[in-house]
This record gives sequence, C-alpha cells and structure tokens, in this order.
Amino acid sequence: MIDEFGTAEQKKKYLPELLTMDRMASYCLTEPGSGSDAAALSTTAVLKGDHYVLNGAKAFISGAGTSEVYMVMARTGEAGPKGITCFIVEKDSPGLSFGKKESKMGWNSQPTRVVTMEDCFVPKENVLGNIGQGFTIAMRGLVGGRVNIASCSLGAAQACLENSVRYTNDRKQFGAKLAELQNVQFKLAEMATSLITSRLMVRKAATMIDSSSPHATVYSAVAKKYATDRCFDICNTALQLHGGYGYLKEYPIEQMRQQPKIQEGKLTPPGYLGPPNPPLFGLPGPGPPSLDGPVSGYNSD
Ligand SMILES: Cc1cc2nc3c(=O)[nH]c(=O)nc-3n(C[C@H](O)[C@H](O)[C@H](O)COP(=O)(O)OP(=O)(O)OC[C@H]3O[C@@H](n4cnc5c(N)ncnc54)[C@H](O)[C@@H]3O)c2cc1C
Repeated sequence: MIDEFGTAEQKKKYLPELLTMDRMASYCLTEPGSGSDAAALSTTAVLKGDHYVLNGAKAFISGAGTSEVYMVMARTGEAGPKGITCFIVEKDSPGLSFGKKESKMGWNSQPTRVVTMEDCFVPKENVLGNIGQGFTIAMRGLVGGRVNIASCSLGAAQACLENSVRYTNDRKQFGAKLAELQNVQFKLAEMATSLITSRLMVRKAATMIDSSSPHATVYSAVAKKYATDRCFDICNTALQLHGGYGYLKEYPIEQMRQQPKIQEGKLTPPGYLGPPNPPLFGLPGPGPPSLDGPVSGYNSD
C-alpha cells in the first residue's frame, strides 16, 4: 500500500525496514460493528492543526501489539466508501493501545488483538494517498494479501501431504502398508493433484500482480478461494489417513488443519474486487469501482 500510494518521503521512511521485515505493519480495516460491510466503518479522523485525531476501535488485527506500523482506515468525510482515508499510524503514537491477545482455534503463530484509538494524534503527513481514497487503498491492499494467505495454505497442505506419504508408508494394517492399499493411493493422488493445481493458480495470480495485469484482482481472488478450499480438503484427508493419531496434538496434522480454516476462501463479490477491469470470460469487468452505490459484501479474505 505504501509502495503504491505513498509519497517519496513515506516510501523512504517506511519501506526499507518493512521490506527486510525488521519492522512489521498491520492492516486495520475491520471494526467490531463492521466486518464484511467495511465501508460502514465508524473510526473517525478529525484534522486539528498539523495532526489528525483518530477515535475508534479496530477488531481482529493481525500482528497488533507487535507491529510497529498500523495502516488505519478512518472516516474523514461522508458515509460510505468515499469518506474513508488511510493513515500510517506508528506504534508509539499517543492514544494508541492494544487489547488482550485473542485466543484462537488456530493460526497461533501470530497475535490478534483489538487496536483502540482514543484521541490518537497522527501527523497529517502520515495520510496515505489522498483524503477519501482510503477504501480504494484498502481494497488494493487485499490483492497481494490474498496471494499471501493462499500461500500459507499451500505450506500447510504440502506439509500434510508429506506427512501422509510418510505415515502411510510406515503404518501397517491388514498385513500391508496403508500406502499399498489402492484407495489410500487414490487419496494421496487426489491430494497431490489439488496441491499442484492450487500452487499453479497462486503462482499465476502472483505473476499477474507482478506484471500489473488488469485481471490481477480477479485472479488473486479466484486463486485464494480455490487454494484455500483445496488445501483445507488436503489437510482434512491427511487427518483421516492418520486415523486416530491425526486427532492427537502430538501429531502435527491437527494443528496444520486449523491453518487453512481461517484462510478458507470466499470469493469476494465481483463488484468489490478493485478498480474497474476489462471484461473477463465475457463477464462484466469487476471493480468497486463505482463508489457511488452502496458498497457492502467486503470480505478481506
Ligand atoms: C484470525 C483473524 C485475523 C484477521 N486479521 C485481520 C486484519 O489483520 N485486519 C483486518 O482489518 N481484519 C482482520 N480480520 C477480520 C476479517 O477480515 C473479518 O472477520 C471478515 O471481514 C468478516 O467480518 P466479520 O467477522 O465481522 O463477519 P460478518 O461480516 O459479521 O459476517 C458473518 C457471516 O455473514 C456472512 N455475510 C456477511 N455479509 C453478507 C452478505 N452481504 N451476504 C451474505 N452473507 C454475508 C459472512 O460471509 C459470514 O459468514 C481477521 C479475522 C480473523 C478471524
């Protein structure tokens, strides 16, 4: 988001350390009262002198409390998507605080917290893009995010497949290795097919983002939906192939199966996929594009 919409100063200040991951950033769109309907967000930002004063709360923020930088979408104008602006908020900003670490069913390698802004002062040079452009920036941020999320599912699914091959070559029932039973071979073949096709779709989407294809938004959404669904199935089958042992925490399958669950895909309605695009497969070009009508149905994932 900073790379695409930032000023030269913002890029110079934030990008080097974010790209090397010496500093991490969090994406703050969701609120307790607005999830899918993100354009209804109610966090406010009011200009006072050289600073914007932010008030509101963001829910489910990945990395909150550990990230040094927060990309916060807040309302600076009218109701709906056109009244939203994106701010770069630094962790030590006065008035910024974090809730308790949420206890989740999976994806425990990263913390999730509420981010609260109470008279949080942000210098006006930390506005990203233009006033009122925040919703567009937020939606653009999701394009690469979908590929990232889908890639996490690929990793979990690959590990589950590798574990399943190992386990079924080791475990014997009815006098044979499980891997010698034809139905088990069919299952492993289906898992491999799903993994390979998922990976190809994710790579295709990533290539389209890299080449600034006008269809990158659609492909990233389709790749995420396909890969996360297929990878969840792969992890589920792996659990089944491990029999009762798959259910035990001592074995890694149970934990890996939780990962694609959070990432499991929903295809964001075509109307909300990003800037206007040319038609694809004879379907009208997606976009939200018109920011004039009601914008709902946002799914960050
Ligand atoms: C672990 C985790 C990490 C997250 N990280 C971040 C983050 O870093 N930053 C961030 O901003 N957000 C984050 N989120 C929030 C996530 O983006 C939201 O949970 C998501 O947008 C859905 O919002 P909601 O939970 O309020 O569900 P709701 O919008 O209340 O939806 C509930 C159900 O209703 C359905 N629904 C909603 N609208 C419609 C409709 N129009 N038609 C039919 N069905 C509908 C949904 O599909 C869903 O099944 C995270 C969430 C989780 C669980």
